Amino acid sequence: MTTAPNPAPTSATMRAHCHCGAFCFESTSAPILQLVCHCTQCREVSGRPFSNFSFFKVRDTQTSGAHRSVAFTADSGSKTVREVCVACGDMLIDRTEGFPKVVGVVHEAISPQPLFNPVHHVWAESRLPETALPDGVTVYPRGAV
Ligand SMILES: [Zn+2]
Ligand SMILES: [Zn+2]
Repeated sequence: MTTAPNPAPTSATMRAHCHCGAFCFESTSAPILQLVCHCTQCREVSGRPFSNFSFFKVRDTQTSGAHRSVAFTADSGSKTVREVCVACGDMLIDRTEGFPKVVGVVHEAISPQPLFNPVHHVWAESRLPETALPDGVTVYPRGAV
């Protein structure tokens, strides 16, 4: 019995783009972590009550298209950047200094859409009063770093 010397390249390339399609993201591997972020900064940038993120290995990813970085220092002291499209203002990417090897992508923007089964909820203390936390998840009052 023979085995192939190299594993076949996976066709699991995942793509994401902003609302207007100008700012794009691509990953050759599946997400390694998913979380829901309830922080006020995400809310301001995205206009949503909370943000669903899938995190990918940075080395497997690339972005293209004009974007603008919205940087801030979280209460934890960690620097964080949200990358938004210059054309439509849609938030697509989250990069956190504390996790330099992963990049977060707004989950709803990804296609094909991977399953979303977040085990972490971060910045729970900043969540809106009407946002309920599900059972069986790890809740961080603040950031995970
Ligand atoms: Zn756009
Ligand atoms: Zn956030």
